[in-house]
Amino acid sequence: MTATATRVLVLNSGSSSVKYQLLDMRDGARLAVGLVERIGEETSRLAHTPLATGGDKRETEGPIADHEAALKAVAAELSADGLGLDSPELAAIGHRVVHGGLKFTEPTVIDDAVLQEIERLVPVAPLHNPANLTGIRTARALRPDLPQVAVFDTAFHTTMPEYAARYAIDVETADAHRIRRYGFHGTSHAYVSRKTAELLGKDPSEVNVIVLHLGNGASASAVAGGRCVDTSMGLTPLEGLVMGTRSGDIDPAVTFHLKRVAGMSEDDVDVLLNKKSGLVGLCGDNDMREIRRRIDEGDERARLAFDIYIHRLKKYIGAYTAVLGRVDAVAFTAGVGENAAPVRAAALAGLEEMGLAVDADLNAVRSGEPRLISPEDARVAAAVVPTDEELEIAQQTYALVSA
Ligand code: AMP
Repeated sequence: MTATATRVLVLNSGSSSVKYQLLDMRDGARLAVGLVERIGEETSRLAHTPLATGGDKRETEGPIADHEAALKAVAAELSADGLGLDSPELAAIGHRVVHGGLKFTEPTVIDDAVLQEIERLVPVAPLHNPANLTGIRTARALRPDLPQVAVFDTAFHTTMPEYAARYAIDVETADAHRIRRYGFHGTSHAYVSRKTAELLGKDPSEVNVIVLHLGNGASASAVAGGRCVDTSMGLTPLEGLVMGTRSGDIDPAVTFHLKRVAGMSEDDVDVLLNKKSGLVGLCGDNDMREIRRRIDEGDERARLAFDIYIHRLKKYIGAYTAVLGRVDAVAFTAGVGENAAPVRAAALAGLEEMGLAVDADLNAVRSGEPRLISPEDARVAAAVVPTDEELEIAQQTYALVSA
């Protein structure tokens, strides 16, 4: 890497999409952001915004056959603004990889052995790891000489103690099939817990934080002195909080029951719990804005869905308060956590005995900055801390390749 190489391209490859951002690590500035959607369909779409040049968003539609074609199209868009993959200023590509199992506790420079290990984890992340692998292989083919780094969603949670990570099932069966709680959204939990400490003017090692990542997927984590000690997602991102389309915690007997009494197959139940449950299953909408609008109109189903969502959230706040012993802050992040003031107010309502309270005026402020929403005299701070997974991936990638 040359001394002038200060840019990192962050790639987040999903099964039919690639999200990307090019950042300058001298100041974290975004030079370009974009998204390729519906890869493999006739109606693929690429949206690219060249922030460095102040140019407008460019959108192109038309078939993009696979991830290789998608990345080539992205590279061409970047080149058009003088930001191409062949630029000597590009230091590395950072890849989001969903499942790193127990092996990957840190961001890792990708070589053939690392690729093989990510491949070995496909059975525990069948939806995500194959797409991540395709993105990595394609990027490596385009720039074989460039360092490529994998940043794992699970890595931040590998510090969980064994008693929090293990399910209470037969140990041999669990070990034979690598069944345990891995947790996800780790990049966000790491970033937000650190930023929360910063907001409190403390070192991360001094504070205990409950992070509530409430997006379309949602997870909570208990972070003690900068280390994750518990998190709500498990073997897969299905466990824990009520989400946009996922049930979160549920009695596993529901699955055998549905197979026995409703004749549903494993795949049917998988789709039910991952795609047709959560807020969408409860009221037909998974967007919190729409749910709030319906509640304001007196819609009972939307009200019940909201109440179920909040009840689960409260249970996790209580549980993680007990796990941590002392809580310094509860931090809300992601689409719902950052934008939905009524969710924050309802989640903390009635928790005054636990030192938690919300100042209605502060909670109503809309801003992209980390901010407190608790009254000054609250024993436990409540905060809104916007997450930035791409920046975190870029920083971890750059730290590794520039070390
Ligand atoms: P994410 O997965 O972090 O992008 O979050 C997406 C979710 O955030 C959406 O499904 C909405 O439920 C929620 N959301 C986004 N903007 C708002 C808003 N202004 N008010 C309430 N909820 C929002």
